[in-house]
Amino acid sequence: MEDFSDRVVVVTGAGRGIGEAIAHAFARQGAKVAVISRTASNAERTAAALNDAHPDCAKAFAVDVADFDAMQSTGKAVIDTFGQVDVLVNNAGVTRDGLCMRMSEEDWDTVVDTNLKGAFNAFRAFQRPLLKSKHARVINIGSVVGIMGNAGQVNYAASKAGLIGFTKSLAREFASRALTANVIAPGFIITDMTESLNDQVREAALENIPLKSFGDPEDISRTALFLAGPGGRYITGQVLAVDGGMSM
Ligand code: NDP
Repeated sequence: MEDFSDRVVVVTGAGRGIGEAIAHAFARQGAKVAVISRTASNAERTAAALNDAHPDCAKAFAVDVADFDAMQSTGKAVIDTFGQVDVLVNNAGVTRDGLCMRMSEEDWDTVVDTNLKGAFNAFRAFQRPLLKSKHARVINIGSVVGIMGNAGQVNYAASKAGLIGFTKSLAREFASRALTANVIAPGFIITDMTESLNDQVREAALENIPLKSFGDPEDISRTALFLAGPGGRYITGQVLAVDGGMSM
């Protein structure tokens, strides 16, 4: 497995769930990790666990990724702390589900501003150190819903489909600088986001998963490590579904 001990990895939404697993995966491979989350206590809890396991590898930063100015300030603080950024994992995401006919403007804006604009805001905050890195990788966490659509999730599906267009365009803009940008599109992964769904929804989801099981956050973190390591060197502008076959 790749040694990341000369790399700095930024993970947004690392306070819980998939982002937390990604932060742990990179720290295990020796990386320094900027743990970004909206809630300070969650970011600090993840960073403390990382530092317990791998002394001085992590620092917590609390910010709403949807806020452009706040994200730029946090970006400066991360760069001041670590001096470089090699891998940006845009993982922070939210759902505000509901049928389109009844969806509020606020629920639309919250989801699109966090999931899509948040990735733009974070890229802008870290673009300079990324362009200086010899191993620059942007990994955006999308969703199979951005490929397939889903009734009751027009806001979420639009944000994740938008993330695909954003990623492919970034990949083209920065290919000459050896920066790669890809999307990992998880299917149904067991985290707080999916724990809240009722049994009926979970059983219906399982019916549509050829591998007949839900994924866990480590399924996604292993894929992120692969894309950030030598295996990902020649892969850019791609959408990699990690979904038990759900979207094929
Ligand atoms: P969780 O709800 O478990 O965790 C989401 C994380 O994102 C939390 O740490 C949360 O911060 C953070 N976050 C949310 N909004 C913001 C914000 N505005 N600014 C900064 N941080 C924020 O979600 P998952 O781990 O399940 O999901 C992670 C990603 O994977 C998301 O992008 C999601 O859309 C995607 N995904 C998940 C799937 C699943 O089945 N779980 C399937 C497909 C895609 P805090 O803890 O501080 O609240």
